[in-house]
Amino acid sequence: MGLCVLCGGQLQDWDSQLFAWRDFSYRYLRCEDCRSLLCDPMPPEAMLAELYSAEYAAAFPDTYQIDSPKNAGWVRAKLVARPPATFVDFGCGDGSLLTAAVEVGWKAYGVELDPDVAEQTAVATGCPVLCGSQLNGAVPGDVVHLGDVLEHLPDPASGLRQAVGLLAPGGTLLVQGPLEAGPSLFSSVVRPGRRRQDHAVEMAPYHLIQATAHGQRQLFCRAGLVEQCYQVFEVDWPAPSRLSRTDLPNPRAVALYVLRRVSRGADHLLRLQSSHAARGNRFQYIGSLPPGMRFAG
Ligand SMILES: [Zn+2]
Repeated sequence: MGLCVLCGGQLQDWDSQLFAWRDFSYRYLRCEDCRSLLCDPMPPEAMLAELYSAEYAAAFPDTYQIDSPKNAGWVRAKLVARPPATFVDFGCGDGSLLTAAVEVGWKAYGVELDPDVAEQTAVATGCPVLCGSQLNGAVPGDVVHLGDVLEHLPDPASGLRQAVGLLAPGGTLLVQGPLEAGPSLFSSVVRPGRRRQDHAVEMAPYHLIQATAHGQRQLFCRAGLVEQCYQVFEVDWPAPSRLSRTDLPNPRAVALYVLRRVSRGADHLLRLQSSHAARGNRFQYIGSLPPGMRFAG
């Protein structure tokens, strides 16, 4: 069955729902150790390139209001707290964080998988956006940020190594993203895992990894990083953050909204009962390389 790309544990069958996108069928396997869910098989490279082309942003039209799960304020606060230097946003998307970094006096550049996205973002922000071989010899970053990137990569350890390879000596790595396989009441209800329908459900394979906090931390640890902070919490996504009158005829929007409110309350109570309960659907991580180490390799 193969090994978990986060912690190295054994993957096992899990009576997963079967999914399909065009001619590609896949399911999720579960890691025996960290209990993260991994797409099986991983999509071919050509399909991933297509998924992350310039149309990617347009693929998710919001039918209701969802606050962005990505916390730009958290990154900005970390930049403001130290003398301006070089900021790297690895997987910079539309480049909004690059603009925010420049506004607080930092030099900034982005990294993107797709050359067209890279060019569009460079034009829109005025910051360089590197792609592929352009990373060789890139200026090291004093703060390197990975926001909602790792769950899209078939080999997250390789992506993480690339990002860590851009860290200047003594630099700080900031990572944030979803924890879709963690113990959250909301996730356990909506998670696309266990088989509920006999036929394959149509869904593009965007989230290749649905991580737990344990699996996520193991990935950072195995890359040789030193953890300074790891936080788990719950955000609204993919439920609506608020409901308007026009959402009321949409039963899915109303159900997700109510479920998220109930889940937040329940998870808050469980957290109060146990200081060890890392309940939630989102993490923020701060790490660095050990002193004197440039690259975890
Ligand atoms: Zn694992």
